[in-house]
Order: sequence, then structure tokens, then C-alpha cells
Amino acid sequence: MAYKITDECISCGACESECKNEAISEAESIYVIDPDKCTECIGWFESSKCVEICPVDACVLDPEHKETHEQLLEKWRTLHPGETPTVT
Ligand code: SF4
Ligand code: SF4
Repeated sequence: MAYKITDECISCGACESECKNEAISEAESIYVIDPDKCTECIGWFESSKCVEICPVDACVLDPEHKETHEQLLEKWRTLHPGETPTVT
């Protein structure tokens, strides 16, 4: 399940560089997560980096993008062809 950013976002930008999938970008008033690139950090880390760094808890799971662990890993492999995941 991809994460999304809520209106609580204060646009501090801290999460953008934390995402190794480059799924986070600045939008008009808040930062946003591209669900096609968010793997819940599966493939890289044991935990979700944007969630950990956000000072206002604005990164939450998006129930509209339900995915299995296997689907998230497959997304990671598509995003990083030829690379080996550090966390599966
Ligand atoms: S959970 Fe991980 S992959 Fe998804 S947006 Fe946050 S930092 Fe990026
Ligand atoms: S870390 Fe949190 S408050 Fe800062 S830009 Fe990201 S979602 Fe917004």
C-alpha cells in the first residue's frame, strides 16, 4: 500500500531526499507521493523513511492503493532494474 501525504504537511521538504525511490515531490501547497513509485520503502529499508522523518505525522498509508508485499517488491524491481533489493 503506497503512502500519501495529508493536509497536515507543512512543506518542510525533509521527506523528499529520504525517499530512495524519488516518489516524493513538492506540489502547489503540500508535498505529494507518487503511488506508482512508493514501495513502503520495501526493497531498501525495514521501515518507511518518510514516516520517520516527518515532524507532523503527515505521511500515512493510502487505503486506495492496496498492494501485497510481493506487489511492492515487484514495483521496486521495476523501478530499479538490475539492482538487488537490500530488504525483501
Ligand atoms: S514509504 Fe518509502 S518509498 Fe514510500 S514515499 Fe515514503 S520514503 Fe518513499
Ligand atoms: S516531512 Fe512531512 S511536513 Fe515535511 S514535506 Fe514531508 S510530509 Fe510535509
